[in-house]
Amino acid sequence: MIGQRLLRARKAAGLSLRELAERTCVSHTAISKFEKGLLTPSSGQLIEFAKTLGVRGEFFFRPMQAEITGVEYRKKASMPKRLLDRVHGDVLDQAERWQELLSLYPDSPIEAFAVPRGLIDTIHEEGQVETLAEGLRQAWSLGASPIPGLIDTLKSKGVRVIGTDADDQGKFDGLAGTVDGVPLIVVGRHWPGDRQRFTLAHELGHLVLAGRVVLERPGVDANACIRGDPLERLCNGFAGAFLMPRQAVIGHLGAHRRRLEPNELVLLKHEYGLSMQACLFRALDAGVIDAATHQGLFRLFSERGWRKQEPGAPYPPEETILFKQLVFRALGEGLVGESKAAEILGVPLGQFHRQRKLEAAGAAAH
Ligand SMILES: [Zn+2]
Repeated sequence: MIGQRLLRARKAAGLSLRELAERTCVSHTAISKFEKGLLTPSSGQLIEFAKTLGVRGEFFFRPMQAEITGVEYRKKASMPKRLLDRVHGDVLDQAERWQELLSLYPDSPIEAFAVPRGLIDTIHEEGQVETLAEGLRQAWSLGASPIPGLIDTLKSKGVRVIGTDADDQGKFDGLAGTVDGVPLIVVGRHWPGDRQRFTLAHELGHLVLAGRVVLERPGVDANACIRGDPLERLCNGFAGAFLMPRQAVIGHLGAHRRRLEPNELVLLKHEYGLSMQACLFRALDAGVIDAATHQGLFRLFSERGWRKQEPGAPYPPEETILFKQLVFRALGEGLVGESKAAEILGVPLGQFHRQRKLEAAGAAAH
């Protein structure tokens, strides 16, 4: 068990056997034997590994009942192997924490992911993704307002969303797949929020569009994820419509416009967490502006370099609180003790205890 964990932590840190050996003064043959379970490292060596690999000591001893067995990614694109290994390490670690947290509850506080019944069942043309997105919003009681925390919304609907820091050179494009049969979406933790949200909504599109698409062009693979693919366009259309429904676009911009002020798009971006360019597409798709007006604005975006970097403050990365909430809830319901709660959160016990006391003191003051 320690061996598998060591292997995983080493891969997640992006180190070869030799590199880890150089940094720890343990020979690479010994490390290889530890990883294969042929030898057991001493506690001193484990402390050294933990320090070098950036994990806490108990990582090596975390119980097996939360072990994740099947992770499948639907697309890997051109991601370098080392980067994929690092991302995969994050996915395993966080997915395991989730599993462990949920297993504390006699009845899972999170429903299993299911596409609601009663949504439009076949999509023949692109415009119908509006209906699909509206149907899903309705089924999930989201109204037509901005969705403040899409990561937590999806998590609470049973999608495992993992934020990773492994993206050091901007080569990470997001990943989707399944973890032990549960839908999985991986995004960069520090990406601008509008990019996180569009990626999430696009992948949600894949989940709800599966089995519904009947396009005239033959050979559309429902699992394909290639740029320019008709299914990709549908998922992008779905993402925009889900993040900012037609009703909201018309409510903010009016039903028909000949021109738009770029500042209107800045404001929409910050209200709905959707890039200015995506808001511009929403205005076109909702019939507020015509193709010529859209093209004119699109040209302006190109001329000013806004297609690469949009003007104004970026939309901040999403904050997530659901995991922490469920840990404190488990503590509050007496399902777990303080030290286990601290371990699941990855916080030293002393620090966790102080955090907990502060919150209790704050609550008592009211
Ligand atoms: Zn896709």
